[in-house]
Amino acid sequence: MGYVIALANQKGGVGKTTTSVNLGACLAQMGQRVLLIDIDPQGNATSGTGIQKATIEQDIYDVLINEIPLKDVILKTNHAGLDIVPATIQLSGAEVELTSMMAREIRLKDEIGAITDQYDYILIDCPPSLGLLTINAFTASNSILIPVQSEYYALEGLSQLLNTIKLVQKHFNPALKIEGVLLTMFDARTNLGQQVNAEVQKFFGEQVYDTIIPRNVRLSEAPSHGLPIIDYDPKSKGAQVYMALAKEVLAAHGK
Ligand code: ADP
Ligand code: MG
Repeated sequence: MGYVIALANQKGGVGKTTTSVNLGACLAQMGQRVLLIDIDPQGNATSGTGIQKATIEQDIYDVLINEIPLKDVILKTNHAGLDIVPATIQLSGAEVELTSMMAREIRLKDEIGAITDQYDYILIDCPPSLGLLTINAFTASNSILIPVQSEYYALEGLSQLLNTIKLVQKHFNPALKIEGVLLTMFDARTNLGQQVNAEVQKFFGEQVYDTIIPRNVRLSEAPSHGLPIIDYDPKSKGAQVYMALAKEVLAAHGK
């Protein structure tokens, strides 16, 4: 049975997509069968893994709204062992269309259920909002990985995120857990970085990963080449830290 992790934080630009793509590729590199599901209408995980948007015939929108089976929408990325369910801008209509649909919160869960034995890990790259797309992801997931950007107001909005998690636990998915909290875009040269680290540790305690993702320019270049960092620049600091994160995630699961 594949273990499903949603990467979520309703703030944009905190490293959700960067972490989805690179954690996914690193887990695949370590022999895991990984499916990345892009449910952000921006489709950054889709383009970041080398999928040309113009070639996509069906995407996650068709799964959620048109009842196309998830297995029909899976594409191979250029990293072996990492598959993707793509998203395109048409997904931006789904939030409104889902509102009037039956079982609107559990559509993704039902679809993932049908393919779960083909993967070890299923990662869901969430949009920067707490709407029905994110609720679908939380309902379908075993756990949530929360990237937190190392900056002023890092913790702002996290209580809303935790409330949404509680609501989903109450109504749809009692077993939903927090997988871990990941500090991203950390700059060790500034006091700010250290302060934010201390604050996040104080708030989340044991749930914070030992691995911290520093600012690394190679990480920001890789998506425009359609490559995970371990293929774009395997020796970079970015590649090293995402491999370390993948090890930490596997170790937490006794692997
Ligand atoms: P989100 O999915 O939460 O909106 P992204 O992963 O797209 O965030 O990251 C936002 C921007 O920051 C992107 O341009 C990305 O390339 C860049 N970025 C993410 N993580 C890092 C990092 N560790 N170092 C440098 N740039 C990063
Ligand atoms: Mg994103």
